Amino acid sequence: MPVLVIGSIALDSLETPFGKVEDVLGGAGSYFSLAASVLTPVRLVGVIGADLPERYVDLLGSRGVDLQGLQRVNNGKTFRWAGRYEYDMNVAHTLDTQLNVFGDFQPQLPPSYRDTDYVYLANITPRLQLDVLDQVERPRFVGLDSMNFWIGNPETKRDLTEVIKRVNAVFMNDAEVRQFTGKYNLFEAARQILDLGPQVVLMKKGEHGAVAVSREGVFVAAAYPLETVKDPTGAGDSFAGGFMGQLASSGDTSWTGIKRAMVFGSVIASFAVEAFSVDGLLQMTREAIHERYEMLRQVTMFESLAPRA
Ligand code: AMP
Repeated sequence: MPVLVIGSIALDSLETPFGKVEDVLGGAGSYFSLAASVLTPVRLVGVIGADLPERYVDLLGSRGVDLQGLQRVNNGKTFRWAGRYEYDMNVAHTLDTQLNVFGDFQPQLPPSYRDTDYVYLANITPRLQLDVLDQVERPRFVGLDSMNFWIGNPETKRDLTEVIKRVNAVFMNDAEVRQFTGKYNLFEAARQILDLGPQVVLMKKGEHGAVAVSREGVFVAAAYPLETVKDPTGAGDSFAGGFMGQLASSGDTSWTGIKRAMVFGSVIASFAVEAFSVDGLLQMTREAIHERYEMLRQVTMFESLAPRA
């Protein structure tokens, strides 16, 4: 089953303790598409300017990403984000955000996209997330991500709250969950988001993994233990790509299916952070994903204290 995604397609300029790059392919929509497309077909909705090198578009196409929903504005500039990470790479410091062509983008879904069952509203203006959601006929499972940039502004926060009421899964990092709810305790905060309607809240905690809270319980997915981390940009979007890709390819949206999809998310995010930009995702194979999945299972399994029957 295909997954439809709307999200930023960006030229990123980044600095981490391990290097610096300028104008590389980034954006939540790009990371998500490259992560999910290893598991399931992806339909991308987004907009780019004249300055996005054609090789980046070709790259997405070469991974089987459906680009019918990608618009190019010939007299416009691509979305740009500049960010910096200190040694604590769990916190991204935004230096600059330029919406550019996303500022007046009015997404028109190609007719072939409208019946998509699995939809991911990656990080972008909440109003655009709503516009896209309105054009999908009867989605079966909708995921949503956002960030401090949209939560901190009362107008975009209002729109974001409207989208949250209409989705199945909310993906946010721990700081964003706290900022959105005004609650320090993450379980209490997640409960407040569940009260708006979603079935599950997936809280990303960087190198410490991710925690899901639903009405059925709590699940903790560890991050894959890596010795090389160069650039955490896109980890969250790659986590979501792995998660949604697995959900769409298995069709299992039960609590058990959600827990398994989280492990896929953790594994796929581990490839993303090993190199700058999307390069880590390009190295990834299905075999390597399965190997890391098994490894993660082994390092997080422990025996019950109950005596065996
Ligand atoms: P992540 O590290 O997974 O949270 O996402 C990183 C990506 O998000 C980068 O490649 C940026 O281009 C993109 N990004 C940063 N700020 C925004 C924003 N305000 N709206 C949409 N995308 C953004």
